[in-house]
Amino acid sequence: MHEQTLKLAALWAREQERDALLAERAGLEAGVRRQQRQLADARALAASTESQLKALQDEERRRTERMNVAAKRRDTTQRLIDEGRASDYAAAMKQVELSKAVVDEEEDALLPLYDQLEAAQTAATGAASGVKVVEGRLREAEAKLAERAPGVAEALVPATAARDAARDGIHREWLNRYDDLRKKNMGVFGDVRDGVCQGCSVKLVPTELAEHRRGVATHYCKSCGRFLGELL
Ligand SMILES: [Zn+2]
Repeated sequence: MHEQTLKLAALWAREQERDALLAERAGLEAGVRRQQRQLADARALAASTESQLKALQDEERRRTERMNVAAKRRDTTQRLIDEGRASDYAAAMKQVELSKAVVDEEEDALLPLYDQLEAAQTAATGAASGVKVVEGRLREAEAKLAERAPGVAEALVPATAARDAARDGIHREWLNRYDDLRKKNMGVFGDVRDGVCQGCSVKLVPTELAEHRRGVATHYCKSCGRFLGELL
């Protein structure tokens, strides 16, 4: 390989070492953010199941109270009738009928409500324990980041210095091309197999490939712009 190609290859190697550190930190940070999002979702679900449960409990209380009041009125009125103390017998009978109807109505409503309550209680308990699980995962992700971040920061200093030093002695033109490729998030080298750039699968110019092979010049793929790399 040409001396400039070798320097570019060395720069690329240093760059990838530095990128690996950045990627490690970014990965740990992304892990924390992912758990934070999941925790927000888990908490929203827990709040929603809790409020559904509370609404059902309120309804149960309301219906039970209405049923108890009606049952009491039914019994009291019935006793007045039985003891012959009802001032208006017809009205008292009507009162008993109405009260019985309310008791029946509430009993009918309460039976399915108990099933709903049980399901809502299960959902609320599940959602609450889901929150705990995600809280635990978030703590783990935060601990991993806290544990590794200083080491990464420390390693980045020499890695950055080595990367910057590796730029020395590379021609401006090649550095510009290198930086453009980096900006496009592309690999900097296209390896060569059977005269074809492995970066973009396009056939290379034979004369340039021959020069690259002999190491007398640095060339790049005219299709994708990557520097010609290893001959596979
Ligand atoms: Zn190419």
